[in-house]
Amino acid sequence: MLNNIRIVLVDTSHPGNIGAAARAMKNMSLQQLHLVTPQLFPHQEATSRASGADDLLNSAQVAHSLDDALVGCRLVVGTSARARSVDWPVVSPREAAAKLVQEAAHGEVALVFGRERSGLSNSELDRCTFLVHIPTNEAYSSLNLGAAVQVLAYEIFQAQLQQVELTDESTRDLATAEMLQGFHEHLAQALDDVGFTQPKQSKKLLRRLRSLFQRARPDKDEINIMRGILSAMQGRKSMRR
Ligand code: SAH
Repeated sequence: MLNNIRIVLVDTSHPGNIGAAARAMKNMSLQQLHLVTPQLFPHQEATSRASGADDLLNSAQVAHSLDDALVGCRLVVGTSARARSVDWPVVSPREAAAKLVQEAAHGEVALVFGRERSGLSNSELDRCTFLVHIPTNEAYSSLNLGAAVQVLAYEIFQAQLQQVELTDESTRDLATAEMLQGFHEHLAQALDDVGFTQPKQSKKLLRRLRSLFQRARPDKDEINIMRGILSAMQGRKSMRR
């Protein structure tokens, strides 16, 4: 089950943090490390901080974009150093870990960490079903990246030990990250084609629509139906697969 959980680090500046993350993961039996455009990798500092977890560094997948790192994932959880967010639901580490472990029994899932300086961008957060925040001193809420990986990896390991009961949702054949991304791009284009979007509101509107579909957790068939509807709206023949 834990083999289906990807730890994704976006745009990491310090190679030492990549090593620390690998070590934290290996302590908690996680294996899949994905690096999106790391600034320095491979690097001696990463290897030395990994301290025996260099097998995870050797097998790490390096991706050119977050979308590439998320291909095939049925659940994407983002991390946030801030406790609240207007646009995205935020859950506790325990809830996030339980959900990741449940869904990892049925396919690939991802937990995404941001840049040391600026965290994840809004468009990266758009890819996430929900966010997890590690409760901290509100006046000093940002953990070191490797430390944040450690806390969440620990919660995942605990959740797996407790073998949380499976919910109905976890057995549905959920749409993958790239299917959702393709759908949202198609939706934006179709709304534009039919003259629905007004440029001023459209960014906000599209974010609301994303959050609607993140809550609904559509399955693959439902996304195909939605895309057929969009194609019909655009006056194209219904999509054949
Ligand atoms: N100044 C940035 C902090 C980035 S800290 C910001 O405000 O977003 C680097 C990364 O470590 C974050 O993107 C997140 O992945 C993780 N992280 C740090 N503190 C965290 C916390 N309290 N809860 C969850 N993740 C945290």
